Amino acid sequence: MIKHLGQIDHQTMKSWPDQFTKRNGDFFCKKCGSQIGWVTCYVSIHLKIFEPECVGPGKVIKVNYPFCPKCDEGLEYVTACYHIDTGVTEPRLLTDG
Ligand SMILES: [Zn+2]
Repeated sequence: MIKHLGQIDHQTMKSWPDQFTKRNGDFFCKKCGSQIGWVTCYVSIHLKIFEPECVGPGKVIKVNYPFCPKCDEGLEYVTACYHIDTGVTEPRLLTDG
């Protein structure tokens, strides 16, 4: 199963762990209590000037996405896109957090 998140921003990424309960440095599902796993999220970099189209330099970066192995059973990977201003070569998410 592949999950499409659509357009994300830095705030979205920061909120991912909020869906889970943190205990002793590990995260657990609020619904079923399972320890969460991590899958790769492939984030396509798009340029804001082309909005609302999702068009960009074609660069893809990989970030970790937390998920519940029970509630999101069979999740293989996640896709999303991140819109940046022109002239910015690296999105904030690479360097912050
Ligand atoms: Zn769960």
